[in-house]
Amino acid sequence: MELDLAHVEERESFLFDERFELLSVEGSTMQCQASVTVDVTRAGSRYLLRAAIDCSIRAECGKCLEPFDLRIETGFDLVFQGGENVEIPEGLEEDDFIVLGQENAYCYDIFPRSREAVVLDLPIGYLCSEDCSGICPGCGENLNKADCTCNKTKSDPRWSPLKKLLNEQDDK
Ligand SMILES: [Zn+2]
Ligand SMILES: [Zn+2]
Repeated sequence: MELDLAHVEERESFLFDERFELLSVEGSTMQCQASVTVDVTRAGSRYLLRAAIDCSIRAECGKCLEPFDLRIETGFDLVFQGGENVEIPEGLEEDDFIVLGQENAYCYDIFPRSREAVVLDLPIGYLCSEDCSGICPGCGENLNKADCTCNKTKSDPRWSPLKKLLNEQDDK
């Protein structure tokens, strides 16, 4: 995701597609597919960069354990400045201000920043949908796909005479 600023005249857009992996909270590997649109506006020796990230992550639902695509839309801004003895403009974080010099020669890899932005935007728990029914603690059935018999057993009317008998015995 190498960005070459040397040829930017006034405005330029770059589009990157990148596949990478992230670790989930549980330590499993998640496949990520990110599209990063980078808009660069140049004002003299200063370049303003705005990156918009659309990332799809193959995650596992915390309730039903089924894999699903978690969508993350995020982004970040950076300011690049060419020249020597450049000071950070007021109101800007050091991390968001990059001095272009001999070393990076107007090339900048936006992958680490893009990845970081996705990580920062990850929710704490991932659910396939807000009303995911999860799995039955009794039989392990995915309740989004099928009803299990565990809950039905509890309210099965055929059991009530037996329960009554048991209760009567307790009373004696
Ligand atoms: Zn789920
Ligand atoms: Zn069940």
